[in-house]
Parts: sequence; structure tokens; C-alpha cells
Amino acid sequence: MPPDVVDAATRSRMMAAIKGRDTKPEMTVRRGLHRRGFRFRLHDRALAGRPDLIFPRYRAVIFVHGCFWHGHDCPFFRWPKSRPEFWRGKIGANIERDRAAGTALRAADWRVLTIWECTFRGKTPEQHEAALDDAAAWLSGSSGEAEIRGDNNGAG
Ligand SMILES: [Zn+2]
Repeated sequence: MPPDVVDAATRSRMMAAIKGRDTKPEMTVRRGLHRRGFRFRLHDRALAGRPDLIFPRYRAVIFVHGCFWHGHDCPFFRWPKSRPEFWRGKIGANIERDRAAGTALRAADWRVLTIWECTFRGKTPEQHEAALDDAAAWLSGSSGEAEIRGDNNGAG
């Protein structure tokens, strides 16, 4: 792709996503939950969707999703103007894969939490901690499926 097709912010987000692991929001989640006493495995290929964090003791997994690549309905996602068909195919396939992974994991009795990148982007350290508290509370609870996102982070 020519370098002028996307703006710098989008490009840096894409590069982080291409690297695929150890992205900043994922590190925030790992560190925050580790600090709260949770122990987990990373990127288990044996599980549908290769979840980012796996908590066998809690029969729970966490996905940390970038808003661009996973087509989040939030202010951080906009369809790129150039090559619309390419992006619809690419991101559409990611959305479909996420949905299928969630269904497969739930069918196998895993609890599934999705934490979106927008939970942390542009938020204060207090909001980061509030979101990590929410994630910890979810892990200790019994909810089968939930998500944490920027516009409900800090709401309580
Ligand atoms: Zn988002």
C-alpha cells in the first residue's frame, strides 16, 4: 500500500495490529490483571480465535481488540476511503472470525470478555484502573460474556 493512503495515526495503529501481539492496550491489561493477582496464559492456539489472555482457573478468556482491525462501532473506527472493497473484505472477515470464535468458545463453556482498545485510548490513569477493576470483577464473577469499551469505561 502506498504510504499516502492512510494518515499517520491510522498507519501506526495498523503497524501495531500487524505485529499482532504485545500491543499497548494488551500490555496494560496484562500488567493490570497480574498486579491484581490474576495468573494467565497467553495466545493459546488450541482455543478458537487464539485468545490474548487465558485464565484456566476461571474458565475465562480475554480478547484485547484494536478498534480499527476489528471494526468497532466507536469513534476510533472509520472505513478507510481508499480501496473500500479491500477493507470491507479484510475487516469484515475479522469481525466474522471474532463472532465465530466467541460462539465456539461459549459452546465449549468458556467465559469470554472483550476489552476494546478505546477503553484506554485518550483515557486517564484513573479510568484505566477503573476498567481493570471491571475486568477483575468480571473474572471473579459468573457472567458468560461481556465487553469493556471506551464509552462505558468509568461509568461504574
Ligand atoms: Zn473502540
